[in-house]
Amino acid sequence: MDISDRAALIRSGDRRALARAITLVESARADHRSEALALLAALRQPERQALRIGLSGTPGVGKSTFIEAFGLMLTAQGLRVAVLAVDPSSTRSGGSILGDKTRMERLSRDPLAFIRPSPSQTQLGGVARRTREAVALCEAAGFDVVLIETVGVGQSETVVAQISDLFVLLLAPAGGDDLQGVKRGIMEMADLILVNKADGDLKPAALRTVADYSGALQLMRRRPQDPPGYPRAVPVSALTQDGLAGAWADMQTLVAWRKAQGHWSLNRATQARQWFEDEVRQGLLARLQADRRVRDQMAALGREVEQGLAPSEAAARVLALLGPS
Ligand code: GDP
Repeated sequence: MDISDRAALIRSGDRRALARAITLVESARADHRSEALALLAALRQPERQALRIGLSGTPGVGKSTFIEAFGLMLTAQGLRVAVLAVDPSSTRSGGSILGDKTRMERLSRDPLAFIRPSPSQTQLGGVARRTREAVALCEAAGFDVVLIETVGVGQSETVVAQISDLFVLLLAPAGGDDLQGVKRGIMEMADLILVNKADGDLKPAALRTVADYSGALQLMRRRPQDPPGYPRAVPVSALTQDGLAGAWADMQTLVAWRKAQGHWSLNRATQARQWFEDEVRQGLLARLQADRRVRDQMAALGREVEQGLAPSEAAARVLALLGPS
């Protein structure tokens, strides 16, 4: 099947064609790469924008329970929802492709939803590319909301925040008054903090956690992209679904404000630029590594660096192979 037929299938909402296209963009093979680029070009439609929601939370806070309940709430409103997992499944506790699928069983059976399990292996540099391209494919396929999930290990949150329109942090009720070791940088990226499990015996602790985070958020510098009162922390229960409609309303408020104030398109433009610059960087690196002379030189200099050669001097020698700077 040629590229334009495949593009048409994806546009028509064919989920198998979409899944195959995501597999293609995940591939590292050079011939797959050129095919992927052709497909992405054929599907390009910058005006067709989904709402991209990045969702981060440590294992056990209830991400899959939340995504399933939240996703079903949206599909019940007729919205089409795609879920992409970012982290390689090897880093997920007990994660596997099967695990991912069974995690959100009802949502995965919903004809308005599409769930893409995390790939079994991706290099960190590849995470951004793979996710950006998978998001672009989902947008072309007509999804209204793309949820990008990360377990929040390493740098994946930063990648997800760079790719999404809204970054949501999911937390569990804390026992004490500590801020659960959430790094300040991550809090600063959050547009909305949802304290999950605000039900039953856990409710009082959840409300205390909400109060702690509300206080912490108020101390932070107000960002131009936020309407007054945001970012905020609110209690939710993925189990009872309490607060989910409110969380969606908060997201709508943020989107409406940002669109009206011009921050939405500014953010998208900045993200497109970042994407471009990342691609150039990755491409340069790939070319360097593909060059045999460079590879041999790097291996040899690597050993010399271990023996005491100055690292920047060694790097300059590798780069000199590319010609005068
Ligand atoms: P994930 O690892 O972040 O995807 O977390 P899961 O969705 O698998 O949930 C971890 C555990 O927390 C499971 O036992 C869920 O049943 C439970 N859980 C998730 N959401 C809630 C909630 O809103 N309330 C309560 N009480 N338990 C929840």
